[in-house]
Amino acid sequence: MSKPALEVTGLHKHYGSLEVLKGIDLTANKGDVISIIGSSGSGKSTFLRCINLLETPSAGEVRLHGELIEMRTNRAGEREPVSMRQVERIRSRLAMVFQSFNLWSHMTILQNIVEVPVQVLGVPKKEAIARGEALLQRVGLYERRDYYPGHLSGGQQQRAAIARALAVEPEVMLFDEPTSALDPELVGEVLGVMRALAEEGRTMLVVTHEMSFARDVSNKLMFLHQGVVEEQGNPKEVFANPSSERFRQFISSVY
Ligand code: ADP
Ligand code: MG
Repeated sequence: MSKPALEVTGLHKHYGSLEVLKGIDLTANKGDVISIIGSSGSGKSTFLRCINLLETPSAGEVRLHGELIEMRTNRAGEREPVSMRQVERIRSRLAMVFQSFNLWSHMTILQNIVEVPVQVLGVPKKEAIARGEALLQRVGLYERRDYYPGHLSGGQQQRAAIARALAVEPEVMLFDEPTSALDPELVGEVLGVMRALAEEGRTMLVVTHEMSFARDVSNKLMFLHQGVVEEQGNPKEVFANPSSERFRQFISSVY
């Protein structure tokens, strides 16, 4: 069998004496859609940030298609990636979509999409624009390609952010509560795009409070409580028959 797209083993993260992640293991095979759920403060964002090196794990290993992301301990006794080059390389193989969209406000949405392919990955501009337009077509925003983010709705901005993430042709996509900042009537259009990505076999880690997405779209579920995996498995089975009392309480609180 081929190596997992993403493999995390024994991941710990602490900030001073606060231990936020207490040994997380996760395997994402190609095409897996993994929902990560849990109450606020349980460590979900920190987990995603450790995977794409926005934070450096305090201990544990992260592998992308078997390749270990190397880290070392610096003179101050903190762990850090071995080089900025490695960080850039890893980031171009992963793509993150944030709750707050994080589009560059001074660029049109097409410019947002071509920026990294052209400036970081060396894709010829013409080619990047053609690909960017095709991605905007896919997320239903081709007509808005020359708009600035501030002139779009939240749902449109998040769809543009997803198109931007796709532009680096990521091996794994990371979503951190992509619909939490949206007005309720705009949630569906973003979930629709994500569902289409899942159906075409993309590998995705999705932090979400959308229980119907977790149950119906993802094929694995991980429930975090205070930095520990409290429940995991096939979403339909886990929802129907939770083994953890905390997970049971959590789902009754969000429904
Ligand atoms: P979630 O995304 O599940 O709401 P987070 O990963 O954002 O949780 O946060 C988990 C815990 O880590 C919280 O107690 C939070 O206050 C703490 N935390 C997150 N980032 C930092 C940081 N940079 N410095 C100190 N504490 C942090
Ligand atoms: Mg969070």
